[in-house]
Amino acid sequence: MEVDLDALLRNLRRVRQAARGAALLPMVKANAYGLGLAPVARHLMASLETEALWGFGVAAVAEGEALREAGWRGRVVVTAPAPPGEYARGARAGLTLALSEIAAVREWADAARDAGTRLAFHTEIDTGMGRAGFPAAEAAEWGRSVAEAAGDLLEWEGCFTHFHSADEADLASADAQEERFRAALALLPEGPRRVVHTSNSAAALRRAGFGGDVVRPGIFMYGGEAGPGTRPEAVASLRARLGLVRRVPPGTTVGYGATYTSRRQERWGTLTIGYGDGLPRRLAAAGGEALVHGRRVPVIGRISMDMTVVDLSELPGEVRAGDVATLIGSDGPGEIRVDEVAARCGTISYEILTGLGLRLPRTYRRAPAGA
Ligand SMILES: *Cc1c(COP(=O)(O)O)cnc(C)c1O
Repeated sequence: MEVDLDALLRNLRRVRQAARGAALLPMVKANAYGLGLAPVARHLMASLETEALWGFGVAAVAEGEALREAGWRGRVVVTAPAPPGEYARGARAGLTLALSEIAAVREWADAARDAGTRLAFHTEIDTGMGRAGFPAAEAAEWGRSVAEAAGDLLEWEGCFTHFHSADEADLASADAQEERFRAALALLPEGPRRVVHTSNSAAALRRAGFGGDVVRPGIFMYGGEAGPGTRPEAVASLRARLGLVRRVPPGTTVGYGATYTSRRQERWGTLTIGYGDGLPRRLAAAGGEALVHGRRVPVIGRISMDMTVVDLSELPGEVRAGDVATLIGSDGPGEIRVDEVAARCGTISYEILTGLGLRLPRTYRRAPAGA
């Protein structure tokens, strides 16, 4: 797996430009969408101006701890509701939690008292996503209780919501969510100005209007499309070597279930990669392809855990064991985008990227300093 960190940074800068210079809370949850938390975070820390990088967003306390280990001392917002058992750890790591109920605010205040520090939190406001957040319509009631429960132990730093359909052609539902969000904000008690954020990649890129002070991009930075009309630079490539190249006679079967049989003499190549690396098993039956010597060749038979067979018969010239096949990425004139693989498998680029396994060595490309 190759990760082009400079392309990742350029994609992120495009999001910031579209969001009219809003500060960035890049989402690095799920091991930076499978690309590698520490290398991605370190590259952004080293490359982004202080005022641009407002913090990092993660989904779990453990991911916040991993960011600390990677050397990040700035803000870390845990955007998913943390189980109460993890609050003490969150406090020790100095994380900022997203809270969705009064009991959680009290728990976080207890953690602050125990740790002897003031801790920050954001309130999520549920405007239709339904998985977390205080109900938007009842902001007047919970707003008062949150301020009370926070007291002096906690800093109520921000408020946010999350769009469920900002990557769809019709943005009407996002407009409606924003309206509910703004109405809720207006009902909250006065206090020090709270930071407001709403936008994932799709919303930041596709909704020109209000997005808040900060945006929370993920997929676009990592090279996945974020709805119609958004085309990022490719970031992640997935390559495997041919372990074996053979000529097979007609009637040869391949893979579990023997779902493919050669009709003539064919030349097959066995790639040293499989679903154990996160190459979706479904890809084979869905017309999956690889690039070899810059040209597309079909995957044949079922994908095994550790091996995948491609038909090289149509390639001109020699193909040898050790030659490289590209499952995602560019090779000469050919390109297979992560969104193409996802569409074939009936899923989204997020699932393909986060599914790429730990067995894959990850190499990071960046321009040398000063270049
Ligand atoms: C994952 C996530 C994002 C990023 O979404 P993308 O679609 O990947 O840009 C933003 N906000 C929250 C709360 C998230 O969980």
